[in-house]
Amino acid sequence: MKTIPFFPYSDLFTRDEEALSKVMLDVCRRGAYILQKECREFDAHLAEYMGVKHAFGVANGTDAIIIGLKAVGIGPGDEVILPSHTYIATAASVHLVGAIPVLAECGEDHMLDAADVEQRITSRTKAIMPVQINGRTCNMDALQAVADKHGLMIIEDAAQGLGSKFKGRSAGTFGKFGTISFYPAKLLGCFGDGGAIVTNDDEVAAQIALLKDHGRNEEGRVVAWGYNSRLDNMQAAVLDYKLKHFDVDIARRRAVAARYQEGLEGVPELNLPPGPKSNSDHFDVYQNYEIEADRRDELRSYLEGKGIKTIIQWAGTPVHQFNELGFTVELPKTDAFFKRCMMLPMNVVISDDEVDYIVDSIRSFYLEKP
Ligand SMILES: *Cc1c(COP(=O)(O)O)cnc(C)c1O
Repeated sequence: MKTIPFFPYSDLFTRDEEALSKVMLDVCRRGAYILQKECREFDAHLAEYMGVKHAFGVANGTDAIIIGLKAVGIGPGDEVILPSHTYIATAASVHLVGAIPVLAECGEDHMLDAADVEQRITSRTKAIMPVQINGRTCNMDALQAVADKHGLMIIEDAAQGLGSKFKGRSAGTFGKFGTISFYPAKLLGCFGDGGAIVTNDDEVAAQIALLKDHGRNEEGRVVAWGYNSRLDNMQAAVLDYKLKHFDVDIARRRAVAARYQEGLEGVPELNLPPGPKSNSDHFDVYQNYEIEADRRDELRSYLEGKGIKTIIQWAGTPVHQFNELGFTVELPKTDAFFKRCMMLPMNVVISDDEVDYIVDSIRSFYLEKP
C-alpha cells in the first residue's frame, strides 16, 4: 500500500542535499554562527522579496509577534482582536506582553471576518491582527476600512503567508508590522526554528533592532531592555539559499492546489478553498490545503486506511476552546467550522500521482458510503 505522509520533513533536506550541505559546511568552517553576513544578507533579500523597507530575522515566529507588539507599544490594558482560527502563539503573544487577546470568527474563506471584528471593538481596542492563514492574505481593504473608521492599528501574523498577496501587495506588509515563521513545515522552512518581523516604519524598525538583541545599539552599547531572539546564522544561510528557489516552490504548491481543485470540484459533501485562479485580488500560495468535509472524521479514518495522512489544524482546537486559558467567548461559526475542517497533504515534493490517489480515495469514500 502507498503511504503519503502529511508532511515529509526529511525530504526538505534530501531533495537538495548536496547544495544544502555545502551551504551549512561553509558556515561551520568559517565559524560564522551568530549575526554574521548571512543574517544581514538574508534580512536584505527578504525585505526585497516582500517589497518592504525593513526585515529582521528572529529566533522564531512567536518571538516575532511578541517583539513586534513591544515595538509598537501594545501592553497592559490594550485589546487586540484576532481570529480564533489561529495558532495559540498569536493569542499567547498578545497575552505575554500584558494585553488582552479578543477572539473573532473566521469567514467563508477561513480568514478573519471584518464584520465580526467590528462588533468586538471597545474603547480599549488598540489593534486588529489578521492572520494570513493557509498561504492566503485576508481581504485587507475590508479590514483596513474597519481599522480606519475606529482609528486602530493593523498588525499581521503572516507566519503562514510568505509569498501570498492581496491586490499585488505581500502579506505582512499592510500593517504596522508583520511576522513570518520559518518553522520547517512552513512555506519557507529552515532546519529548526526561525522567524522574521517586517515593517515599513523606521521608528518601529529601530525598536525591533534593539529588542531582538539585548537592547544593544549598533555600537554594541545597551540602551534598552531587550531579548535574545536572533535568527541563527546557519538558518539564515539555509533560508537565503532557499529563498532563491522559492518562486519555483510556490508555483508547485499552486499546481498541486489546482489539481486538487480539478479532482474534487463538484463533490457535494466538500467545500474547497478558493482555487489558484479564483479571484484576481488574491494570490494564494497554499501553505495548507484546508477543506471542509461532511462526515469528516469518517473520511479521515477511511483515508488513513488507504495510507493517506491528514490533519486538523491546531490539532482540532481553535483558541477560544482552550477553557484552561480563561476564554469564555462563544464563536458558533468557528465551532461549526472545526467540526468539518481538515487538511490534505500539501507540500513541494508530493507527486501528481499521489494527489490523484488522494482525490480518487476521497471520491470513492463518498461513493461507497452514500
Ligand atoms: C507557525 C505559526 C506561528 C508561530 O511560529 P513559530 O515559528 O512556530 O513560533 C504563529 N502563527 C501562526 C498562524 C502559525 O502558523
